[in-house]
Amino acid sequence: MPTKNSFHIAVLPGDGIGIDVTAEAVRVLRAVEAKLGGFTLTTTTHESGAICYKRTGEDLPADTLDACRRADAVLLGAMGHPDIRKPDGTELTPQVTLRVKLDLYAGVRPCKLYAGAQTPLVDTKPGDIDFVILREQTEGLFASLQAGILLHDQVATDTLVMTRRGIERICEFAFCLAQEGTSSRPPRASPSVTCVDKANIFKSYAFFRKVFDEVAAAYPSIRKQHAYIDAMALHLVQKPARFDVIVTENMFGDILSDLGAGLIGGMGMAPSADIGDDHAVFQPAHGTAPDIAGKGIANPIAAILSAGMMLDWLGRRHDHRDLRRGGELIEQAVMDILANGNTLPVDQGGSASTQQVGGAIAERLGTLS
Ligand code: ATP
Repeated sequence: MPTKNSFHIAVLPGDGIGIDVTAEAVRVLRAVEAKLGGFTLTTTTHESGAICYKRTGEDLPADTLDACRRADAVLLGAMGHPDIRKPDGTELTPQVTLRVKLDLYAGVRPCKLYAGAQTPLVDTKPGDIDFVILREQTEGLFASLQAGILLHDQVATDTLVMTRRGIERICEFAFCLAQEGTSSRPPRASPSVTCVDKANIFKSYAFFRKVFDEVAAAYPSIRKQHAYIDAMALHLVQKPARFDVIVTENMFGDILSDLGAGLIGGMGMAPSADIGDDHAVFQPAHGTAPDIAGKGIANPIAAILSAGMMLDWLGRRHDHRDLRRGGELIEQAVMDILANGNTLPVDQGGSASTQQVGGAIAERLGTLS
């Protein structure tokens, strides 16, 4: 029996389409709660992001950060605006600050192709693409965030940082994920973890590969693979079915996960989770998409699937079967709506609004057995 049935979710809608897609994710969570009945989700909404910065001078106010620390999980939309910047000209990235403050070292980016979603790859069917990218999120090239050096307007440097502890924990996470799977990705018959680096050129990436190999030695039943980042960009387009769990440095993971999103129908289809030992934030992989913000046509599926990942994570953490079942139901409802094709979002070739897609998924969920 689970010891806890009531969960507090801190909701940070943020800016742009983050606000619209988060509303639909919360709507679907409410539908799961009503359907299953074995748990309650209390949500509180908090300010953060570019508009918040413009109004208050802070993009992640202390009380918002505090609420995230206290919550059982955080549901985030997207943050930032190209016209609202810090005095030095850089964009606001409170979601990155949150990763550092809550030590969310594992960026989990599943890339799964569903029937009805628009992949640009010809002769590719659902099941051919089902890999997950694990992005190390607290070091790598992002370690020098806001600490790079610009010298006399002539030379600029940013430093790439790798620590043994940082590499060990993301690689451990990768092998555990390949071994245990999730509701959406049961472990494979022949699981594998692929380390992506540039070990042929850089000391830091050679170190990443060395530590990866050391961690891999403790998981003899999981096949380990290596790939250089440039070759990996090619492999993911040409032979995506070859990959199961992929683990890589922060910047490489940032780039590869957009490539992965492109293979499964675009940013509107790509969920993600930022997970640490004590906290986790769930958010679509996309940004605030200023080009479509306010038009009501953003695809909410990435945000809704991220909410499903949240239930799965909470269910595993608290050994709560109903929560895990909730994650499964969300994915099933999304799959049904995509396969049925009557309420497709605009980016998947349909004409349904953000609200119509969210409503259809919530309604479908209510009818699932
Ligand atoms: P960031 O810099 O944070 O990555 P961005 O605005 O540069 O943000 P994204 O928001 O990730 O980039 O989106 C890139 C493009 O993909 C958008 O301009 C938009 O056209 C499309 N897009 C992103 N998210 C969605 C969505 N949920 N539904 C439909 N289209 C989307």
